[in-house]
This record gives sequence, C-alpha cells and structure tokens, in this order.
Amino acid sequence: MSFREQFERHDWNEVKDSIYSKTETDVETALHASKRTLDDFKALISPAAARYLEPMARLSRELTQKRFGKTIQMYIPLYLSNECTNICTYCGFSLDNKVRRRTLNADEILKEVEVIKSLGYEHVLLVTGEANQTVHVDYFKKALDLIRPHFAQVSMEVQPLDQDEYEQLIPLGLHSVLIYQETYHQEDYRKHHPKGKKSNFNYRLETPDRLGRAGIYKMGLGVLIGLEDWRTDSFFTALHLNYLERTYWQTRYSLSFPRLRPFSGGLEPKVEMTDKELVQLICAYRIMNEEVEISLSTRESEKFRNHCIQLGVTSISAGSKTNPGGYAVEPGSLEQFEISDDRSPAQIADMIRAGGYEPVWKDWDNVFV
Ligand code: SF4
Repeated sequence: MSFREQFERHDWNEVKDSIYSKTETDVETALHASKRTLDDFKALISPAAARYLEPMARLSRELTQKRFGKTIQMYIPLYLSNECTNICTYCGFSLDNKVRRRTLNADEILKEVEVIKSLGYEHVLLVTGEANQTVHVDYFKKALDLIRPHFAQVSMEVQPLDQDEYEQLIPLGLHSVLIYQETYHQEDYRKHHPKGKKSNFNYRLETPDRLGRAGIYKMGLGVLIGLEDWRTDSFFTALHLNYLERTYWQTRYSLSFPRLRPFSGGLEPKVEMTDKELVQLICAYRIMNEEVEISLSTRESEKFRNHCIQLGVTSISAGSKTNPGGYAVEPGSLEQFEISDDRSPAQIADMIRAGGYEPVWKDWDNVFV
C-alpha cells in the first residue's frame, strides 16, 4: 500500500480525538513498553504526558547517547535563490511579497562557499524557493558541481522534484533532501498554499516515495508548527516516517520541528507551541524511534537550544543566514524568516563542548556508506 493510500484511511478529527483522550495509564504503558507502537506515540505526545516530562527526558537522553554517543552534527544553510512562484502564507519569499529577487550565479556561489568554509563547515544545506523557470534541475547540477568539491556532504531543501530528477542529482553528490509537508491537514494546506505548484498536496505528500525510489542516502521530514494542531500533525509525520522506514529501509531519516517565525509581512501562528511542549515532542520521537536523527535550527532561542542538545537532538545549525548572498554577496537582503539564536558557529561549538558533547562538522555516519 502506498503512503497516500495509508494516509487516506485516517481521519484527522478521529486521530486528534484519540490523542487527546489518552490517559496517564496510557503514557506509563508507553514509557515502559519494550517495543512501542504508533498508539504509544499518541500517548507520549498527548496532554496527559505533560507531567511525565522528566522521565521522558531521561529516557530520551539515554537512548540518544546509546545510538549517537555524545556528538552533535553541525550544518549550515546556503540560500541560493529567493525566487518563488508559490504563495505560502507563512513565508517571506512568497510570490505576493514584494521583495527584490535574486538567484546566485557561479561566482556568487563560490564567494558564499568561501565564507562558509572559513567557519569550519563540512556539511552545507542548499536552500531555494520554487522557480522552475530559473532554478531548475540544470541549475542544481551546476551548483552541485561547484559546491560538492568543497564539502564532505551537500543536502538540499528545494522544491519537490520528479524521481528521474533526483536520480540525476544523487550521482553528483547529493547526500540528503529535506521535504517538509508543512501540514497534513488537507484543508488548511490548501488555505496556506493558494497558488503555485506547491498547492498540489498529493505531489508533496508523495515526494518522499520518489526520493526513496531514487535511492537517496537520507531524507528529512517535518511539519511547520503553528499552522495546525501540532500533536495531530506530529502523529501523521510519525506515520509517514514509519511507512518510509519499512519501505525504503536503506535510507536514513531525520526530523525537524520548525516553529513559525516572524518574517516581513508575517502570519500569526494559529496554534502556539510552548518550549515545554517542543521538549515533549522531541523526547516522544526519540522514545518511539532510536534511529531517527533530530535536528534543531537557529529558529529556536539560545536558551532553548542549550537545553535541548542534552535531550535527543543530534544536529544543529549555527551562524545561519536565510537570504541568498547573506554570508558575503549581499548581507542586507531580505531574510526568509528571522533567526532567533545568532551565536557564531565557534560559540555554538564551545557551548556543545561545555555540555560534555563533541561537535562534528560533517555527517559522521557517511563513513559507513
Ligand atoms: S515556503 Fe518555499 S515555496 Fe513557499 S513561498 Fe517560501 S520559498 Fe516559496
């Protein structure tokens, strides 16, 4: 059964009700289970689990250290373009946002690479909007040719592509692809994506399948927290992850939890998620899944990130710029969203070491490929 078929068998409101009806007994059963199910995950993300945060955090830390040791991977985004033909209600690069558009050329890319390399990075995440006329597969091929020799790993967070397009990019050194569903609530998805290719919910939903069939080494999943009920959206993310791990077992997986951040012309979150709730969610995923990598970006505050590296997170970004040319070419251009933690990569590395962990500048598990 495809994921789309599996997804269509679930009713959003029924899933939501079943999460909110979980009891403390369900949470205790989930915490003590030797093998956990998606029903246990529902209990761990439910309101009933709020008073179990301490034992959840202890278990999450223990499981993370057992699988990943005391290491935190470091990565940095490189924005190549802010051109976009989509309207997304929550994004500074949305087509209806009147900002100057820029796509980096080869010389500009290399200038950005030089600065990023000087910060010590070996893992870079390429980011663009969705402008298929200019920022297309041929552009990505040229970008990979330019960038790949300078880094141990190159990841991408760009528009969803067809399977054959991923198959063209992987041999050029594409290591991983992040593809966030934003929300699994179909009506709200339509509301937040009224124009452009991204308004096709199912094409996005089926992207991880295309990536899996193309043989990508790693893919990242997630939703944008703030658009809909985060517990229900997280259940569907876990369902998706569960399906993908069983279907494309040679691929590795990571999760991110972007919370809606302010941006020029910004949307207010429909649903607020507190820091404690985000900790609960991170721990719930780790307790449910010992293998999945968990990433935390500079959207989160200094205090929160200091706390979270001990709880289940395995990779973080630092020193990020969310505008094309932000490191060297045009530092003052409009950002996709405001970052919250603006410490330098060296400061973040010091913070990681001070907590007894080791910063790792490239994706260490790649050596086993
Ligand atoms: S979220 Fe992505 S697709 Fe949507 S407007 Fe922003 S850059 Fe474009």
